Amino acid sequence: MSVRCCIVGGGPAGMMLGYLLGRAGIDVVVLEKHADFFRDFRGDTVHPSTLQVMDELGLIDGFLELPHQRLQVLEGLFGGTPVRIADLRRLDAKYPFIAFMPQWDFLNFLRESGRRFPSLEVMMSTEAVDLIRTGETVAGVRARTPGGPIDIEADLTVACDGRHSILRERAGLAIEEIGAPMDVLWFRAGRRSDQTENVFARVEQGKMMITFDRGDYWQCAYVIAKGQYDAVKARGLQPLLDDVVRMAPILTSGISDVTSFDDVKLLTVAINRLTRWTRPGLLCIGDAAHAMSPVGGVGVNLAVQDAVASANLLAEKLRRGRPSEDELGAVRRRREFPVKMTQRMQVVVQNNIISGALRPGDRPLKVPLIVRLLTAVPWLQGIPARFIGLGVRPEHVHSPDANAS
Ligand SMILES: Cc1cc2nc3c(=O)[nH]c(=O)nc-3n(C[C@H](O)[C@H](O)[C@H](O)COP(=O)(O)OP(=O)(O)OC[C@H]3O[C@@H](n4cnc5c(N)ncnc54)[C@H](O)[C@@H]3O)c2cc1C
Repeated sequence: MSVRCCIVGGGPAGMMLGYLLGRAGIDVVVLEKHADFFRDFRGDTVHPSTLQVMDELGLIDGFLELPHQRLQVLEGLFGGTPVRIADLRRLDAKYPFIAFMPQWDFLNFLRESGRRFPSLEVMMSTEAVDLIRTGETVAGVRARTPGGPIDIEADLTVACDGRHSILRERAGLAIEEIGAPMDVLWFRAGRRSDQTENVFARVEQGKMMITFDRGDYWQCAYVIAKGQYDAVKARGLQPLLDDVVRMAPILTSGISDVTSFDDVKLLTVAINRLTRWTRPGLLCIGDAAHAMSPVGGVGVNLAVQDAVASANLLAEKLRRGRPSEDELGAVRRRREFPVKMTQRMQVVVQNNIISGALRPGDRPLKVPLIVRLLTAVPWLQGIPARFIGLGVRPEHVHSPDANAS
């Protein structure tokens, strides 16, 4: 099989880039190793910057018809004190809210919307296992399919295969680890239709938890100190659930949905980035280029922004053939600054708020100065709202639309 561009990984980065290149009339294939997108344990937040991209693509109306919940104000309880961290209503944005939607709905929507582009193919159950090289140049991938192995030759291979990217490893690209002091336990608790609560984050000494209203369930993220999962497991499930309900009494009835540690997924939090995103014929974007901390829930949106920037910078060049490595490097030169700034902010939050809160002890938890300021001065709440909702240097769609009349 021979294509202009082979994208490995059907996550937010890969599906959005596939859509954009298909829209531009480029011969492109997206390989996804799973048979479908129905997997739990993924980021489910679609931020104003991504909603804006969907708007620019003319997809927003259909997208917002899919079931979702909206969040505009991020409020919490810090040692029992009510705090407000961000207010997205203060954004100068067309869609000033975070849409909570299962990631599989988002990805399926992109897939269905892209079916009208004849040059785009999405191959499910197809796992890239190695790079094909011609000398120093990456010339495609070797993949495993249900029908047997296949070689896919491509002028450009884009690694969108996530934070455990096999392509970047095969390409020998070096990773700079920045580190994170926490891991996250991820589980669901049933929600009755009459239950509502605006509290989003709860912080107590030694404990931290986030709850998202997901319609018929609460998505819960219980934050633990890095490497403590085995200790939590050794204590047993019931003490964990007791802690959860003590922090968030609204979960009292629904917590019975968690019956064993099989219902609790561990997210090993990482912050890292590649120092070099390219080899000749190869580009890495999304989590494959930079794993983000869950702080701000920005991973999906950065992946989408990378895809938009890649299509803006490369679609025309791909029409002519293989972009040079310098041309591929334009993607890193454009996106590295937003990535670094976002990771720096995540580290600041980790070091100044999360690490202190997770330190064990009985002393009363003091609300950090920055959180007190944000709560007391409402206009300040627009700053984190901008950082979370729009991010640094938001991208807009400039890649060509081959179907435009
Ligand atoms: C539990 C959890 C909660 C999260 N919560 C949030 C959140 O609330 N908000 C947020 O913005 N982000 C969140 N994130 C992070 C977010 O999911 C990622 O940043 C985002 O999905 C990155 O998109 P991506 O397309 O780069 O990679 P991924 O979403 O990781 O997609 C990679 C895709 O590549 C496929 N793949 C991997 N290897 C191969 C291969 N060899 N061949 C073919 N296919 C392959 C995978 O199956 C996958 O579909 C969360 C992550 C986790 C794990």
